[in-house]
Amino acid sequence: MSLKAVAFDIDGTLYSNTRMQLQSLPFAVRHIRLLTAFRRVRQELRRVRPIEDFHRLQAELFAREIGETPSNAAQIIETVFYRRWERVLERVPLYPEVRETVDAFRNAGLKLAVASDFPVQRKLAILGIEGIWQCEVSTEETGYLKPNPEPFYALLQCLAQQPAEVLYVGNSYHYDVAGAKAVGMPAAHLVCRPPSDSIADFSFRHFAQLRRWVLARLGE
Ligand SMILES: [Mg+2]
Repeated sequence: MSLKAVAFDIDGTLYSNTRMQLQSLPFAVRHIRLLTAFRRVRQELRRVRPIEDFHRLQAELFAREIGETPSNAAQIIETVFYRRWERVLERVPLYPEVRETVDAFRNAGLKLAVASDFPVQRKLAILGIEGIWQCEVSTEETGYLKPNPEPFYALLQCLAQQPAEVLYVGNSYHYDVAGAKAVGMPAAHLVCRPPSDSIADFSFRHFAQLRRWVLARLGE
């Protein structure tokens, strides 16, 4: 494996989804109906192809779910899900050794990237890890969510690397690992118990394990 870059998923990979969910419990209780509807819409969006205009389709599907006009639905998505969600994130710490791992990769000459299914830039600033990435991909802007190939192709294009040269790191087997592997990228899976038939190149529980594994592979 001749690695030139490492690309990370953000949610559930750089910080704990469980911590996030605990912090967002009052928010979730208050908006349970909207949250459930939005989750259904996002699931549907992962399956629909082709998509002409991602945000318009998302608003239309959400509008249908909650019985609102598409413009009201778009407004709710922006204020409730994108903005308020970010405020919850302010109280959630990064996983241990994320920073050290990312720094070690950079010092080893690897390019760094992130790709998230939600808008990326503000999120990175809130998490205190902005300005260190060669590429920041909001998958929505490619028109498709993971595990569709477009977000991964956008990463490869931005990094100007071949698929085999970019390790994708994520916590979702179906979205991250399967999505990356389908376009020929190696994948590392953050997981407590990997599936027995996992196609990930590496599974890990702690960032120190990922760091050792990647650094040991450089120059191979
Ligand atoms: Mg994730």
